[in-house]
Amino acid sequence: MSDSLDSLQTVGVVGAGTMGSGIAQVAAMNGYDVVLRDIEEEFVENGFETIEDSLDRFVANDDLTESEAEETLDRITGTTQLADLADADLVVEAAVEEIEIKQDIFADLDDMADPETVLATNTSTLSITTIASATDRPEKVVGIHFMNPVPIMEGVEVVVGEKTDEEVVDLAHAFSEAVGKTTWESDDKPGFVANRILMPWINEGIRAFDEGVATKEDIDRGMKLGTNVPMGPLELADHIGLDICLHASETLHEELGDRYKPAYLLKRKVEADDLGKKTGKGFYEYD
Ligand code: NAD
Repeated sequence: MSDSLDSLQTVGVVGAGTMGSGIAQVAAMNGYDVVLRDIEEEFVENGFETIEDSLDRFVANDDLTESEAEETLDRITGTTQLADLADADLVVEAAVEEIEIKQDIFADLDDMADPETVLATNTSTLSITTIASATDRPEKVVGIHFMNPVPIMEGVEVVVGEKTDEEVVDLAHAFSEAVGKTTWESDDKPGFVANRILMPWINEGIRAFDEGVATKEDIDRGMKLGTNVPMGPLELADHIGLDICLHASETLHEELGDRYKPAYLLKRKVEADDLGKKTGKGFYEYD
């Protein structure tokens, strides 16, 4: 299969964590067969649980019927074998944000998938071109950067690598739209559009708090009321995960220099394992 949406039937998803489970869900909700792969059975099962919980909420809100939710689940097959993705028409990789791991996955996918199959990555900060260099098909590698939580967030950032073919970019837009999203496009520059602008904003919010400019509540309230964003920087950082914010900031700092230096308090919170909502405590406390 190639760069055409018409012949796209089966989507392979690598990684069944926060993002991979969401990508599998929206693909299946929109009629695609999905093969969802993680390295251990337990992680695949966790992915299915996340999907089931999300589908239950869609049903509770009357956005989906019980039978549509069941059909969605039936379209997803879990596996621990990367080889089970060999016949997928499109693969979207959403494994951990480590360049070596992503390059290994892409090299293996390159060996087993049809040479025409498009391989996409959901990376937030790593270079599409660097990931693509692990394959013999860099023109078929593209970034399809979904936002968290995938079933809710409308935006998808399509990221164009140095060698990505135009038809592959078109497919990335078309597929994202076919699963209910609206896209924008970014060149393969550090942080793309979203994180390049978001991360300094979050770090500046943290610094303002650390330097006593205002209370955390007032920083968040000020940005929400003053700039019409749905969440302030501190609550958004908690929502994303402080470890993820730190990792993204460090990557940008390395690539783009001092204006991306992570805030001191962000590092301290991560060292203390206060990672935000997922650990019950970040800048705020959660049940
Ligand atoms: P996560 O930690 O929730 O999930 C990653 C999953 O990948 C884990 O289940 C892990 O077991 C699995 N994994 C690790 N190595 C693997 C391999 N070789 N093959 C298959 N699976 C493997 O991470 P996440 O938050 O879902 O992030 C996934 C990707 O999406 C990252 O590249 C991240 O930068 C990007 N992303 C994350 C967010 C976010 O807010 N969490 C938003 C946009 C993009």
